[in-house]
Amino acid sequence: NYIVGIETSCDETAVAIVKDGREIISNVVASQIESHKRFGGVVPEIASRHHVEQITIVLEEAFNEANITWDQIDAIAVTEGPGLVGALLIGVNAAKALAFAKQKPLVGVHHIAGHIYANRYEQEFHFPLLALIVSGGHTELVLMKEHGKYELIGETRDDAAGEAYDKVARMLELPYPGGPHVDRLAASGEENITFPRAWLEADSFDFSFSGLKSSVINTIHNAKQRGDELKKEDIAASFQGSVVDVLSTKTLKAAIAYNVKQVIVAGGVAANDGLRKSLNEKFSGTNIPLLIPPLKLCTDNAAMIAAAGYIAYEQGKRSDWDLNANPSLVLK
Ligand code: ATP
Ligand code: MG
Ligand code: FE
Repeated sequence: NYIVGIETSCDETAVAIVKDGREIISNVVASQIESHKRFGGVVPEIASRHHVEQITIVLEEAFNEANITWDQIDAIAVTEGPGLVGALLIGVNAAKALAFAKQKPLVGVHHIAGHIYANRYEQEFHFPLLALIVSGGHTELVLMKEHGKYELIGETRDDAAGEAYDKVARMLELPYPGGPHVDRLAASGEENITFPRAWLEADSFDFSFSGLKSSVINTIHNAKQRGDELKKEDIAASFQGSVVDVLSTKTLKAAIAYNVKQVIVAGGVAANDGLRKSLNEKFSGTNIPLLIPPLKLCTDNAAMIAAAGYIAYEQGKRSDWDLNANPSLVLK
């Protein structure tokens, strides 16, 4: 069957058409990065306006590229949350209007479920499965015992990993979004500054990155005051060292504690080279298979929403006409 996926939770207007939940027929993403760059972050009001302008164009492009007509479509899956409410509303209302006009079932999808299901384009899931979600707004460890069911076993108590990356990048005067720039600098730097690692309680799978972020900011300020020249590369490498160490160590520990058959990584920070290397290294010493999606499936797209929507659709889940954008939707 064919599912249309629609994603507008943040600053990407995206539509995809997917066959049987695992085959991408088309996957169109209109990014707004250029419009938000000069503000150093996503401006919600601007994001909503762009979505309004882009949604019909992106929809049309996805259908043209797939060379498919509406009567071949089985259902419409749309991100209902979490995200920016004004941005989400554009996708949700487009999906509702189309579902009504074309008489198609409507399926609301959690954005993070989408990030998780991006991995299913690479490999079938094996349960129990542990997902490490590292994105602009989330840092979580999620246990899945079956399709479409999610148990949160750890989460950040303050900043998300991507958020920490973007804030540190700003301190280093790097362009937005800063994650990839910090990653690139880190590759040629040395881990010669000791930054804190927030391990929290011994049995906790939670994360915390605000102390690390403050420590990086203080280190940069103090060095400036002393007239020291710290190399940006070394700051990036030392910061990344701390983030990656905690993320990969806790993921391995959770994978063993829950005796999982597979570990997958999701979200924009899954593109991070240091994280990929560290996870690969840690899991190569175990018999637990580790799956990290290719870069283009790591960041926001609608194929991932269609993949998660396909499972929900097959499980008989349907959204009503009162489907609404929910900025704080809980994954369960
Ligand atoms: P969420 O999914 O939580 O709503 P989001 O959709 O904004 O947030 P994503 O699109 O999944 O997040 O990822 C964007 C984040 O990933 C940004 O914070 C960006 O800096 C970060 N990022 C992208 N590439 C890298 C990289 N190579 N290293 C570190 N961070 C990266
Ligand atoms: Mg984004
Ligand atoms: Fe996202």
